[in-house]
Amino acid sequence: MGQALSCGEREESGLFGAVGKGEVERLEAMVDADPSVLEETSGYGRLSALHVAASNGRIEVVSALLDLSLNPDILNRYKQTPLMLAAMHGKISCVQKLIQAGANILMFDSLHGRTCLHYAAYYGHSDCLQAILSAAHSTPVSDSWGFARFVNIRDGGGATPLHLAARQSRPECVHILLDSGALVCASTGGYGYLGSTPLHLAARGGSLECVRELLAWGADRHQVDSSGRIPYTVALKHKHRVCAALLDPSSAEPLVWPSPLKFISELNPEAKTLLETALKEANMEREKALLKETVYSLPSLDSIVGADDTASEASDVELCCICFDQLCTIEVRPCGHQMCAHCILALCCHKKPNPTAACTTAPVCPFCRSSITQLVVAEIETSNDLELEFSPSNSKPRRSRKSNFSEGSSSFKSLSAMGSFTRLGGISPGKIAAECNVVIDKP
Ligand SMILES: [Zn+2]
Ligand SMILES: [Zn+2]
Repeated sequence: MGQALSCGEREESGLFGAVGKGEVERLEAMVDADPSVLEETSGYGRLSALHVAASNGRIEVVSALLDLSLNPDILNRYKQTPLMLAAMHGKISCVQKLIQAGANILMFDSLHGRTCLHYAAYYGHSDCLQAILSAAHSTPVSDSWGFARFVNIRDGGGATPLHLAARQSRPECVHILLDSGALVCASTGGYGYLGSTPLHLAARGGSLECVRELLAWGADRHQVDSSGRIPYTVALKHKHRVCAALLDPSSAEPLVWPSPLKFISELNPEAKTLLETALKEANMEREKALLKETVYSLPSLDSIVGADDTASEASDVELCCICFDQLCTIEVRPCGHQMCAHCILALCCHKKPNPTAACTTAPVCPFCRSSITQLVVAEIETSNDLELEFSPSNSKPRRSRKSNFSEGSSSFKSLSAMGSFTRLGGISPGKIAAECNVVIDKP
């Protein structure tokens, strides 16, 4: 990158020696004696003191220099700002400090025409990426450019931050960018092969996690680049066989995160994590079947899914009345019915979201048919509550075995017979049995 710091012996005792070692007092004394010392640059890249401090994570020096009212957007030879270098090297405290001091997040360097967001994504520093995106919400950028446009900002080669994160196998950054509105099917200009989508680039990089993430956000396995190749072809060419198995257009479609639904975009962080985990698990189950046919075994996959099964077996919290397999973790508003994250997700993903359609009809609660307006985390009983529940005076069944039901045949009549409506948000079991003799949609 040409960012290596030149630390010649001459510089050891000078400005850059003090900056490199974080010697704030010596630095301030030097500036007092001769303010023009701050105009010195280091090496061929013409790095300023602020560049060097930011890329080395010398937060105390960065603060001191900014206090001396040094321009936070000072440029090096490649028109890179200190913020770009801090994002490149993952120096989160310097990123935050520079943004606080008013550093412009919308500057392009002359090397690749990239912004600080591109660099954070390329080098996989998700904390820096997140800080820059948060800043984009509150700085003039959102007024002048619009946040969505900033997230999808293109570099000199036509690559968005999502393209770079996918190519460099940075699944965390891929996730944050998609969650912030990055376009999953955007094609590049000159970066990679002409017309590559993030999925092509993830296939090239061979990151299973990135491929999974992109598919879960609706990336199209059929989209071709300008040489007519689909991502599957790219993965095969580079011998990423596990990625290729998921990218094979003839294999089963994964579940796609229902982002167009209003209540999904309004989820609180806790409920969101539950649903995201459920989506991942559901897709991994599908993967397991797909990957059985390949020569690879995926121990990580088995351990994750296996561990979760054990956890649900061990706890004695109310089981979901739809699948009788998972625990009730999500409460539907306004009606208050509860179900597991897997079932609510299956309900929301039932109609594959169409990104071109302006509005998607919200799903209804399978118990009472009222429109879902919000999802929250269901309150889980503490262990104290559980002991109470198991006292002799309270003998109602707390768990139901899924073996009692064949999949897809559950109806409310059989459910109410099981006495499993204890947690349906204050609605009496009798009332539900009376008005709900409908068969539940199989999610
Ligand atoms: Zn369920
Ligand atoms: Zn309901």
